[in-house]
Amino acid sequence: MPRETNAAKRARAIEFCDRLEEMYGRVECFLDHESPYRLVISVLLSAQTTDAQVNKVTPELFRRWPSPEALAAASPEEVAEVIRSLGFYKSKARHAVEAAQMIVSDYGGEVPHTMAELTRLPGVGRKTANIVLNVSFGIVEGIAVDTHVNRIAHRLALSPKTHEKEPLKTEQDLLKLLPREYWRDVNHQWIRFGREVCSAKAPRCAECPMADICPSVGKC
Ligand code: SF4
Repeated sequence: MPRETNAAKRARAIEFCDRLEEMYGRVECFLDHESPYRLVISVLLSAQTTDAQVNKVTPELFRRWPSPEALAAASPEEVAEVIRSLGFYKSKARHAVEAAQMIVSDYGGEVPHTMAELTRLPGVGRKTANIVLNVSFGIVEGIAVDTHVNRIAHRLALSPKTHEKEPLKTEQDLLKLLPREYWRDVNHQWIRFGREVCSAKAPRCAECPMADICPSVGKC
């Protein structure tokens, strides 16, 4: 099979996003995003865990520690108790408390809104920062590549196989392919598609509306 040109790959990527826009329209963030503080902590807790599991523990977490100041004064052990149903709960509790402490000490209790400042917070990487910037502040600097976005990008061959385990590189590949106006909605629309159609274990290729533009159809 001839190698696909960049122009053809870009056209497929745009077509994929256009179809998702038609299917879903705007998809809201699945996590508690009542405030930037709640969102940054919720996303931090969501690594290697489903959003549904995170949403089960955050009501009690934010009832007990409703502000960065309150969480900054908590002990990681008591936070760990509340979130113990999540994977890696001990390190997540430590990061959450340390992130709250930095929000209070360095940013006057307000979650910062630049990529450089957000990624200084313990436990906050580019994925989390992209989500917080986008959802809480309406700032689009990149694309949050989580497990769903990464899997779909690679099934669609929009990022080389060698980047499959490197979401930061996958993000750069997607940023090069997609015009900036598409970046805002990729994360939430692709997550929904990943849950409903192109799941990790049982992709529904036979009924997938993307089958004609997907090189992995029937191969996963
Ligand atoms: S055809 Fe299959 S692998 Fe491709 S996007 Fe659809 S469900 Fe995923």
